[in-house]
This record gives sequence, structure tokens and C-alpha cells, in this order.
Amino acid sequence: MDWKNAYIIDLKSSDVNGKVFHLHENDSFFEYLQTDIEHGELDTTITVEGTGRLFNLNIHTEGTVHVPCDRCLADMELRIDTTDDLVVKFGTEYMDEGDYVVVPEEEGTIDIAPLIYEFVALSMPIKRVHQPGECDPAMMEILNQHLADRSNLEDDFETTDEEDVEEQETE
Ligand SMILES: [Zn+2]
Repeated sequence: MDWKNAYIIDLKSSDVNGKVFHLHENDSFFEYLQTDIEHGELDTTITVEGTGRLFNLNIHTEGTVHVPCDRCLADMELRIDTTDDLVVKFGTEYMDEGDYVVVPEEEGTIDIAPLIYEFVALSMPIKRVHQPGECDPAMMEILNQHLADRSNLEDDFETTDEEDVEEQETE
């Protein structure tokens, strides 16, 4: 069976109330969702509560992911441990409103994979950098050289006092 099928929760099934799902995410999960996570091993437990047209999904995900460090670009391990509640309502068409999701009542199913990733992404720090001193020294040397070259170039063009611009986040 395709691993993606395990992420489709049938909210119309008669035994869904109180049902617990155990899922495992690895590299194919992050690749499929086109994330910037290069490697990862996560375990997700989902507890569904509710009947009729309104459900609460308690989603707990923990494990580790690997992302590039914002400073040296080398691989960096991040610990993930996040617990979130997601309200799911039946409606006419699919809508993701952040704190709740509407799924078409005719289908009655929800693909939980992108929502798990959303919660994982939200739990990660905005600035992802190694602890002081743990950046890749070879990469730092190349980057510092690059920055030095660039500021020399800028000096040639007599740029005004804009050194702080480089420090700002442009995400
Ligand atoms: Zn680093």
C-alpha cells in the first residue's frame, strides 16, 4: 500500500471517534511535500475526537529533521516536539483557515500529511543556526571571503552607509 494512504483519515467511518493513528515520516514524506527539510525521522500520533460534522484532531509529532544552517549552509539537526489541536468541520469545499479546516462533506476524508508538515514547520525556529562555534569552519571561511570580496566591490562603487542591509532577514 502506498504510504500516502495512511495519511487519509476517513471522518465518516463509524469508529472514528476516539481512534488513534500512529504514523512515521521519513525522507520520502519531506520530498513529496516539497519541503526544505533534507532528511528527517518523525513519529506522529493523532487522536480523533468528534462525531457528526465537527472533529478535533490532537496531533503530536516528535523526532529530528535536518535543515541547512542559515549561517554556514551546512547540515544541521533540529529536534522536533510539537503538539497541536486541529478542528475539522464538514462543509461544501476544502478550506484551510489555519486553526480549523473545512473538508467537503461528500468526501468526508482529510489528507493529514500537509497539515502535519505545517505544524512541524511552525514549531521550527525562524532563524536556524548552529550553536556558537559549531558552524562548518571551511564553509565560514568561504563565506567570509565572499563577503569581503563583495564589500570591496561595493567600496569601489562608493556606496553609501548601508552596511546594515546585509544583516537584515529577507525571508
Ligand atoms: Zn552553521
